[in-house]
Amino acid sequence: MAKKGFTTTNLHSDRKSKPEHGVLHKAVHPSVAYGYDDARHLAEVFQGKRAGYNYGRQLNPTVTALQDRITAMEDGVASVAFATGMAAIASTMLSLLRQGDHVVSSAFLFGNTNSFFGTLQLLGIEVSFVDATDVAEVEAAITERTKLVFVETIANPVTQVADLSAIGELCKQRGLVYCVDNTMTSPHLFSPKTVGASLIVNSLTKYIGGHGNALGGAITDAGNYDWEAFDNILDTYRKGDAKLWGITQIKKKGLRDMGASLGPEAAHHLAVGSETLPMRMDRACANAQALAEFCSNHAKVKNTFYPGLESHPQHQRAKQLFKNFGAIFSIDLESGVDCFDVLNRMDTIVASSNLGDTRSLAIPVAHTIYYEMGPERRASMGVADSMIRFSVGIEDTEDLLEDFQRALA
Ligand SMILES: *Cc1c(COP(=O)(O)O)cnc(C)c1O
Repeated sequence: MAKKGFTTTNLHSDRKSKPEHGVLHKAVHPSVAYGYDDARHLAEVFQGKRAGYNYGRQLNPTVTALQDRITAMEDGVASVAFATGMAAIASTMLSLLRQGDHVVSSAFLFGNTNSFFGTLQLLGIEVSFVDATDVAEVEAAITERTKLVFVETIANPVTQVADLSAIGELCKQRGLVYCVDNTMTSPHLFSPKTVGASLIVNSLTKYIGGHGNALGGAITDAGNYDWEAFDNILDTYRKGDAKLWGITQIKKKGLRDMGASLGPEAAHHLAVGSETLPMRMDRACANAQALAEFCSNHAKVKNTFYPGLESHPQHQRAKQLFKNFGAIFSIDLESGVDCFDVLNRMDTIVASSNLGDTRSLAIPVAHTIYYEMGPERRASMGVADSMIRFSVGIEDTEDLLEDFQRALA
């Protein structure tokens, strides 16, 4: 049979694993512990000689079903889910890196990832921030201690698009782990595996869950990286298929030692949400395009940042790599126009810090999510004081346009 499409595969994923009673959704299994009739089997599960569940912090059947969906969406070899996207990022970095290692990261980063990389530096893991829209900047920052390169697909809030293919080539040549945060594009718009990503991050809280009703994160091994070459893999995990060594260490160290595990209720919400990802994303992208075009022609808007505009510096790259241009865009207002006043005149669009919801949300970024960073780092990321970031939802386009017309009148 031909390989089924993205949505078909996702919708029938739980059923194909033959759950009890023929249920079409994997059940929510709240049990923390698992009992064994033969105590030897319990020991074998602990020793990795038998598949099975031992304790809810490491494994839960509802969470496993979600992990399988994410792996299929990213066409990867395995995924590990965490309580949040930040837990996925932090657990991965702390599982794979050691004091003295060096990371090259895009300077255009989700604020909390930026903050976490500050924490890594306090632990003696060096991080260099570079303009990842240009592979030459990434290459120039690599040292003999570099272990990993971290980029986002479309950065938030200024929507820079990383030089994803060229950085993938570079990482392959240099034997570096290439970690791509696919949250902004989601696996519907972009497959990081195709540009050589080793590890793929998804905040499930955002487009995959899509309804702003559950937190979650996942890391997927795309199967591109040769973990035999990665000397931070502990001897205990250098067993069996080398393709799985990295994700096994992330699962063992990340979930067992650090414990930011995803709960089964959240996993169920996220799995159901993921079923409509392509439809929601297509509609949100179409709305974002219409609104960004409106703003780019408006006298009170100084700059509009959206990869779908021809004026965007990486428009051609985005067109080549992504199925669509995403549902995030930002504007800078002309001087004398107050970003708070604009937001307060909106009716449909909600002042809120989340993104990837079905509802349209907006936030004055310099005063909120990038406040702690300070003016210098904000300026280096292109974040102006008057900037508003929009996470466009799936409302009727006319209603969103009306909000903008009124708010900017
Ligand atoms: C939101 C977000 C995260 C973190 O996800 P949480 O689920 O909120 O912890 C990571 N990366 C990007 C690009 C995000 O937008």
